[in-house]
Amino acid sequence: MVHIEPGIFARHDPVVEPVPVVFDSPHSGSHYPADFHYACPARLLRHAEDAHVDDLYGAAPAFGATLIAALFPRSYIDVNRGLEDIDQQLLDQPWPGPVSASDRTRVGMGLVRRICRPGLQMYDRKLTVGEIKHRIDRYYRPYHAAVADAIDSAAGRFGGAWHVNCHSMPSTRGPRASVHGWERADFVLGDRDGTTCGIGFRRLVQGTLERMGYDVRVNDPYKGVELVRRFGQPQLGRHSLQIEVNRRLYMNEDTLERTAGYDKLKRDIETLVGAIAAYARDQLTAAAAD
Ligand SMILES: [Zn+2]
Repeated sequence: MVHIEPGIFARHDPVVEPVPVVFDSPHSGSHYPADFHYACPARLLRHAEDAHVDDLYGAAPAFGATLIAALFPRSYIDVNRGLEDIDQQLLDQPWPGPVSASDRTRVGMGLVRRICRPGLQMYDRKLTVGEIKHRIDRYYRPYHAAVADAIDSAAGRFGGAWHVNCHSMPSTRGPRASVHGWERADFVLGDRDGTTCGIGFRRLVQGTLERMGYDVRVNDPYKGVELVRRFGQPQLGRHSLQIEVNRRLYMNEDTLERTAGYDKLKRDIETLVGAIAAYARDQLTAAAAD
């Protein structure tokens, strides 16, 4: 069963006996709102999408998990940023609420982006406070509420919940690549240095991927941002892990078209989803036996 909030999110509910597992794909949306009015080339703007990630995890409901996917693009408003991560340079008047700009905002990639890519402005105008508030109230808050509700209801029913925040990463060398060599990683897992999920869960995901032959890094260079920070409370039995998959494994990074590797990667992610569902069930059984 799929519940759709048009333009906002799609929630795919379990089609078998539920397990307390929630996947969310916050950046795969490609419904560009009519009031976006960006000034950069659409082809380049679309490179910000985590294209196809919702489909790669499409097996979730068949394993009893819930899958939530944003339908709007992250370049319009990024649900993986804090609400105070406001870029004052982008606004035509002072923001009326608290502002706590992150490093990402300082380079123009905060809650609402100022740049399409380094050196290329997103807009040919300043945005109004009302525009930003609309994006927060109409898009950001309902998306966060959908993920929160799914996790709360799983935890309420089962006594614990496992949340996987699903992303993709470009393969191109960034300025950090020479230090970390991260362009070679197939997957990067982020638990904000061990604070958003139990180590057993992270190891389960890492081990499952490595046994399938993938190169996996942890918290390097992506540690996880707002969604795992908000929902990961391992001390309360709520575990959140961010997974970044390298786009070179499944798509042409210029045209966003699927490549020959797509089907194999999707099958391997289905194996991963199955392993996560089994892990969650085993954890609850073990807790019940204590
Ligand atoms: Zn992403």
